[in-house]
Amino acid sequence: MKRTLIWFRNDLRITDHEALHKASIQQNPTLGVYCFDPRNYTTLEIGFPKTGSFRAQFILESVTHLKQLLQTLGSDLIVVFGKPEEIVPSICAALTIELVTYQKEIAPEEVAIEDALESALLKQHIQTTTYWNSTLMHPEDLPFPIQKLSELFTDFRKKVERETAIRNSLPAPTKLVSINHNLEFEEVTLKMLGLEKPQLSPLAVLDFKGGEAEAQKRLNHYFWDTNHISQYKETRNRMLGESYSSKFSPWLALGCISARSIYHEVKKYEQERVQNDSTYWLVFELLWRDYFKWIAAKHKGQLFQLEGLQKLQIQWREDEHQFMQWRTGNTGYPIIDANMRELLQTGFISNRGRQLVASFLTKNLGINWLWGAQWFESQLIDYDVCSNYGNWNYAAGVGNDARGFRYFNILKQAHDYDANGMYVKHWLPELRLLPDGKVHQPYKMAVNEKLLYDFELGKNYSKPMIDLDLSVKEIEGLYNMALKDRRTKIS
Ligand SMILES: Cc1cc2nc3c(=O)[nH]c(=O)nc-3n(C[C@H](O)[C@H](O)[C@H](O)COP(=O)(O)OP(=O)(O)OC[C@H]3O[C@@H](n4cnc5c(N)ncnc54)[C@H](O)[C@@H]3O)c2cc1C
Repeated sequence: MKRTLIWFRNDLRITDHEALHKASIQQNPTLGVYCFDPRNYTTLEIGFPKTGSFRAQFILESVTHLKQLLQTLGSDLIVVFGKPEEIVPSICAALTIELVTYQKEIAPEEVAIEDALESALLKQHIQTTTYWNSTLMHPEDLPFPIQKLSELFTDFRKKVERETAIRNSLPAPTKLVSINHNLEFEEVTLKMLGLEKPQLSPLAVLDFKGGEAEAQKRLNHYFWDTNHISQYKETRNRMLGESYSSKFSPWLALGCISARSIYHEVKKYEQERVQNDSTYWLVFELLWRDYFKWIAAKHKGQLFQLEGLQKLQIQWREDEHQFMQWRTGNTGYPIIDANMRELLQTGFISNRGRQLVASFLTKNLGINWLWGAQWFESQLIDYDVCSNYGNWNYAAGVGNDARGFRYFNILKQAHDYDANGMYVKHWLPELRLLPDGKVHQPYKMAVNEKLLYDFELGKNYSKPMIDLDLSVKEIEGLYNMALKDRRTKIS
């Protein structure tokens, strides 16, 4: 029986948790620790916090809930503001801990912290083990070594769908042997993290709350109470409302629920209610999530380089004023502005919305995609390092399966996915009175219409910051130049 310290990271739950399961079976005296790492609460060079208020609040809620859960099991969670490689060894010394265990992560910043912690603990002769809790499929069950992972999602998906079984979820422990302690740390608050309390917009379609119980509540709602899951494939590209997609991502990102638990609930739903394309598609999307984790594991730091996985040296612009217009939702293109304001005022936007705003930033404005990814990192309550940087690689055209210069036609998308302008009018009250046919292009209104609706560009709403067609052509030129340069270098 080893006195065990579990260093919680993005695995803030007790159900389907390998280390807790093991600790309860082996009856190891167990305590948890969560560190709010100061490096995640700095202001980035670009001028905004690495972790914004919405995300920090969601993390705080999730951590607080985990502490309560562990206490009901007889254990506890120490919550500290500090670097794990300093905090964990000092707790170990104070409480004569024999084993430290933690969830392995993939991205370079996280791995560097693991390495620093390992060497600090080695000096104290404390044993460490890691576990893997974060993907649908366990890495040991993949039918190929990570270095052989296909660069095409479809190849990956077909192979794993054929050859990889999903492991069962582990039950939550009913009791843990405690480690008594009287260590006291200052309570971590938003203020301590240098952040203000976020103001959720009254227009928000969902008030996300962190923690395992809330994740379970959302799952019950989406599956059993409403059967929304049975229409997922038809609704998933919408942008307005709580029901068009599962909204599981914030809880998945922090590990308040496991992808595996969701998978088994889908299977149960298929048996008890209905099995259709929609139930399949939810699991399909969870595979995308896995895929980006394996891509990050395979390509390591390259995922975070400006030239991306394609190693394309595109001449990105760094226009701070234009970037500010994008991130505050003042581009003059309603579908972009509505999404960017929703993100700013709630910490969440739809997948369709993310694709459109990322395409606009990179293919119309030609702005450094890392700036966009950092803004998402700061704002999104579901920020996941692999999904975020993986998707941004794709959006910027530097991802692993980039096939030439591809972009979203912003106006076509607006008409396809927000035909009557409901979404845009929801987030841009200044456009609410405009006729549906004009809401995506207020700059096209005739003089008499402007008078009729008392609407003036530049006063009620921004003028378009660029011409959509011309800008795309220009950026395509830069992209093709980068392709040519790379070919010349290779040959
Ligand atoms: C530029 C960009 C950045 C993104 N950044 C993130 C991020 O930081 N964190 C994040 O979780 N997702 C990210 N996504 C993926 C996707 O937009 C969100 O996972 C999804 O919108 C979350 O809503 P949902 O839970 O309702 O998804 P659903 O449509 O209900 O899908 C179910 C789950 O599948 C996974 N999933 C779905 N689509 C994707 C995808 N394209 N890539 C990876 N996983 C996916 C998510 O875990 C999601 O919760 C990003 C997409 C883009 C285009």
